[in-house]
Amino acid sequence: MGERKLSQTVSILVPCYNEEAVLQEFYERTSAVIDGIAAYDFELIFVNDGSHDRTMEILKELRGKDKRVSYVDLSRNFGKEIAMIAGIDYLKGDAAVIMDADLQDPPEMIPEMISYWEQGYDDISAKRRSREGETFFKKWSSHTFYRILQKLSNIPVQPDVGDFRLLDKQCLNALRMMRESQRYTKGLFSWIGFNKKEILFDRDARAAGETKWNYWKLTNLAIEGITSFTIAPLRMASFVGCMLAFVAILYMAYIIIRTLLFGGSVPGYPSLLSVILFMGGVQLLFLGIIGEYLGRIFNESKFRPLYLVKDYNGEMVVEQRKVRD
Ligand code: UDP
Ligand code: MG
Repeated sequence: MGERKLSQTVSILVPCYNEEAVLQEFYERTSAVIDGIAAYDFELIFVNDGSHDRTMEILKELRGKDKRVSYVDLSRNFGKEIAMIAGIDYLKGDAAVIMDADLQDPPEMIPEMISYWEQGYDDISAKRRSREGETFFKKWSSHTFYRILQKLSNIPVQPDVGDFRLLDKQCLNALRMMRESQRYTKGLFSWIGFNKKEILFDRDARAAGETKWNYWKLTNLAIEGITSFTIAPLRMASFVGCMLAFVAILYMAYIIIRTLLFGGSVPGYPSLLSVILFMGGVQLLFLGIIGEYLGRIFNESKFRPLYLVKDYNGEMVVEQRKVRD
């Protein structure tokens, strides 16, 4: 592990979607923390993910007052995963701390993260000790999801770890190289490797405003996570297919022997129907799973840019710089 040189820049990357209620407070709390760290320069880079409230005006105001503030204004709402890669593409730091705007990730942890970075860790993530203000069901479902993902994929997934983390330049460059459009960033963090360190923290409830997540979105994110990291469901189709075929062969043998010994018999309509329905269901389920992967191939094969930028620090972006290779 190499030593970190001084006078480097640390970027704080904040994706924002309709965060007018918290941005000012976020800025004040975070700048209070970074003002106390003299050894580094800081850049606060906000990505406005197509907000339709006053988020953009507040960001412009902040930049007017404080040149450490930068902003990237996306052309529409692309979702947090894409907003994060946009920020990673545009940030200038030698390391970056990814944080939510809603103060659920306490900025007071930045000094601790930086001290581990100085010790040579490349990816210092904050692991939730408790989840204030979240329902029992949300805690349980997220826990179960991590378990399943961990079982299915070969990559170690970090449970109870979100996007709140400090990433070294090496990690940032690795993430910049991954241009898939359907991003499951939490999995990408695991995939890239490097020296990882987890530190514990208590996740606060959202300071103000509303969460943009609902169970429909979370379910989709879970499917996203599984299908982007493992083809285990496809393999499961083969296994289930083999098993059913095996059972069918046994049953066939039983029918043949019974017919030879006792003669043929016609009844069996209900059992026939239930077997047909069952098989039809299994086939449709796996067709759906194949479709899920096919859809991903379709989306990735279009090679569109991941996002479009309207405005970077007051400059209109006409030529999109960071498009996919
Ligand atoms: N966010 C975003 N684009 C979106 C949804 C959310 O950039 O389409 C940002 C949001 O502004 C916040 C972070 O992602 O900074 C986390 O969102 P939120 O607090 O709603 O999620 P939760 O903490 O409930 O998981
Ligand atoms: Mg939140």
